[in-house]
Amino acid sequence: MKYIVVTGGVMSGLGKGITMASIGRILKNHGYKIVPIKIDPYINIDAGTMNPYQHGEVYVLGDGAEVDLDLGHYERFMDVDLGREHNITTGIVYSAVIERERRGEYLGQTVQIIPHVTNEIKARIRGVAEKSGADVCLVEIGGTVGDIESMPFLEAVRQMKLEERENDFLFVHVTLVPFTTLHEQKTKPTQHSVKALRELGLQPDIIVCRSREALREDVKDKIAMFCNVSPKAVISARDTEDIYEVPLLLEREGIFSYLMEKLQLEQSKEDPAWGRMVARRKLSSEGKKIRIAIVGKYAELEDSYLSIKEAIKHAATELGCKVEMKWIEAEELEEEKEVDFDDVRGILVPGGFGVRGAEGKIKAIEYARENKIPFLGLCFGFQLAVIEAARNVAGLKDANSSELCETPHPVIDLLEEQREVVKKGGTMRLGDYEVFIRRETLAERIYQKRKIVERHRHRYEVNPAYIEQIEREGVVFSGTDRSGTRMEIMEISPDIHPFFLATQFHPEFKSRPNKPSAPFKAFLEACININPKIQTLNPNQYQIPKTQ
Ligand code: GLN
Repeated sequence: MKYIVVTGGVMSGLGKGITMASIGRILKNHGYKIVPIKIDPYINIDAGTMNPYQHGEVYVLGDGAEVDLDLGHYERFMDVDLGREHNITTGIVYSAVIERERRGEYLGQTVQIIPHVTNEIKARIRGVAEKSGADVCLVEIGGTVGDIESMPFLEAVRQMKLEERENDFLFVHVTLVPFTTLHEQKTKPTQHSVKALRELGLQPDIIVCRSREALREDVKDKIAMFCNVSPKAVISARDTEDIYEVPLLLEREGIFSYLMEKLQLEQSKEDPAWGRMVARRKLSSEGKKIRIAIVGKYAELEDSYLSIKEAIKHAATELGCKVEMKWIEAEELEEEKEVDFDDVRGILVPGGFGVRGAEGKIKAIEYARENKIPFLGLCFGFQLAVIEAARNVAGLKDANSSELCETPHPVIDLLEEQREVVKKGGTMRLGDYEVFIRRETLAERIYQKRKIVERHRHRYEVNPAYIEQIEREGVVFSGTDRSGTRMEIMEISPDIHPFFLATQFHPEFKSRPNKPSAPFKAFLEACININPKIQTLNPNQYQIPKTQ
């Protein structure tokens, strides 16, 4: 097993996750099997309880793990499906050590960070690496060098480097090279950061320097000299418009040849598919522009909807168009009497929690339904679409969700099964579940399948007592769980509305740059086809795109 450990210095938010995901992609393009691990030095067991406003989106894996959004980057870049064990936090490590101590398994020893905590970390990394059968295991250590929280992890990988064979272990350090107003490229922050790393006994093998523009050769030489690496090991990673271009930039900078040399990897043919996809993205960014509205609660912090943004871009690439996202704060819609979506061709209401902004989102959904604007609702967006239909189509004026208020018509409610889960200390219905699609529906045309598997993250569900009442005037539940009691997809028949689809699940988590998610693609295609001036569309003209 070969290991590449990625650390970061100078400041957070440099794109360490993208750097690691890109290295993984490069290796994969060259035919290597890879496995990524993200280490998050926070004490939380997982990201489930974290506020997306502070940390960005909570990403959900197939097995239901709620994790850091970097795992989303890994899945999208490396095209792998990850599970809970691929995200190691301080909380997980310490609780395992403490449980073992309580069981008396340390046989009376004093339990310490070194060796007990570090051994636990090493065993977890090696366990995931070996189980995967990969050629190369990539480990990203979150935070920046010098943080107290990351110390045990850095110490663990220092020990691993000694224990593994000479050519099997390599450190990549990601730093920042700022520019002065006089356009000088400054190396001192990198020097300090590498110095801090070396004080902990870690010598980087490769230094990836993030900067506004490409590094000058003399700047690279200077970094090489002060940081004790070969000039070939200083990789310039300049800012780029398209994150998916980063693997190509890094490879052009020689990172793969250097990795090959250091890890003694064999030369192999490169798969050109990724390069082609990036070229297509460039082309589509010059293509037809369409604007869609995203009505959310954290609209000002776009990172909280990262996977949705990416899924939109993946679909846009395939359709050859450029999508401009107009972020609309739902709460502001509540105050305005008239909703103005004149300049958008589609409306998307993403997932969310709580009452703030909910009525604004319902207003946006009503507008999309009445004015026949393509609409895609995701999770909370689905639940609110059901409420909107219950109120304005089925005439249940007080329809609401019991998450939001007490109501005589809880069309969205906690199902008995979920109450049990909550009672047992569980939280939500999380991760992959099968969805069964009704024949001859929009959903079937979009997915071109009768059974799909998508990821979930929710507590509340459509209340089965109201289904019959809600299903009228073209409103249908076109996807359910196996038993048929949990509603998973709601749509309005294409005879009545050009495109109205909402899902209880989160299709955005399975979208990949080379394999866009089917509902996103169909939604965007409807946005392209619709004539915003007339705002109606002959459903016979509307062609659902072929998927896959
Ligand atoms: N708040 C809703 C629920 O818990 C929706 C959750 C979501 O959008 N992820 O069911």
